[in-house]
Amino acid sequence: MAKSEFDIIKQYFAHQQQQRDDVVLAIGDDCALVNVPANYHVAISTDSLVAGTHFLVDADPAFVAYKALASNISDLAAMGATPTWVSLALTLPIIDEAWLAPFCHSFFELANRYNIQLIGGDTTKGPLSITLTVQGLVPQGQALTRSGAQVGDDIYVTGNLGDSAAGLALILNNQSQCEPSLAAALVERHFKAQPRVNVGEALRGIASAALDISDGVIADVKHIGERSQVAIDIDVEKLPLSAELLAFCEGDRQQAQQLALTSGEEYELCFMASKANRDALEMALAHTNVKYSCIGEVTAGRGLSLLQLGKPLNWKLSGWDHFGITNN
Ligand code: ADP
Ligand code: MG
Repeated sequence: MAKSEFDIIKQYFAHQQQQRDDVVLAIGDDCALVNVPANYHVAISTDSLVAGTHFLVDADPAFVAYKALASNISDLAAMGATPTWVSLALTLPIIDEAWLAPFCHSFFELANRYNIQLIGGDTTKGPLSITLTVQGLVPQGQALTRSGAQVGDDIYVTGNLGDSAAGLALILNNQSQCEPSLAAALVERHFKAQPRVNVGEALRGIASAALDISDGVIADVKHIGERSQVAIDIDVEKLPLSAELLAFCEGDRQQAQQLALTSGEEYELCFMASKANRDALEMALAHTNVKYSCIGEVTAGRGLSLLQLGKPLNWKLSGWDHFGITNN
């Protein structure tokens, strides 16, 4: 007997997760109800992934779930928020349990890792797409916005940049000349980039502005420049490059730097902090075990400038659209 939509919701979405104490009513009623602690803001972000636009139609459902949820968690991290709840609007062409089972396994594995509870959603028939609304909590007045960067602030990024783009190039081009363990490491960086929630939380009260890198650092950091009405100088020699990326580029440093500037879906954070906060920053991030690097400085004016050891560079680069798949 064919299963109804309700059976599927019950089977796959209602019972696979830890329950949070602040959820009063979750899946099953007309709305979910949650408790919000006094003196906190709720941070809310929505993202849609559409098959054929944001992922390949035959992509591994476990990857699709990871990407959908990780990119949303990364938005909360960039705001300095602690993830709490998520809603899932799922549009499926057919009820395919061979697709749903790995999708849910991957979704709940990541949700549980960050103590996020699925509190509701919608399930409809149509071309495959996934829309998530994530919510998180941030103490009032401490959210990391894009508008607070000040002239003279240092510009930082977490982790390394460029690995995700190299991983994607390997997936799409199947470059068999690349050494297998190197290729595996870079592909893993593309599929399993880690949202930096603990860094976002630690940056509360220290960073003047922040965002997560989803379209490539030069495309994303421009948003901070515009919202904060400042100019951005990035020195390409300061970009954090992994040994794997340099090996992938066969030692071509310029190619590695260009990948680092344009690589999307890194989920690394780019943030600004005043020079007076350098010690506070070091102390706050020490316990996160996430490395961070200063890549430039906020200056007076408008626009983005690339420098190499202080001298202007005129590379023509765009955001992450090199491989024909957009992640906007
Ligand atoms: P309504 O008709 O009120 O929109 P639905 O039949 O769409 O109700 O959903 C019933 C319950 O199941 C609601 O609580 C809704 O939040 C939840 N739900 C539906 N689809 C999903 C989903 N994909 N993930 C999580 N919860 C879902
Ligand atoms: Mg509904």
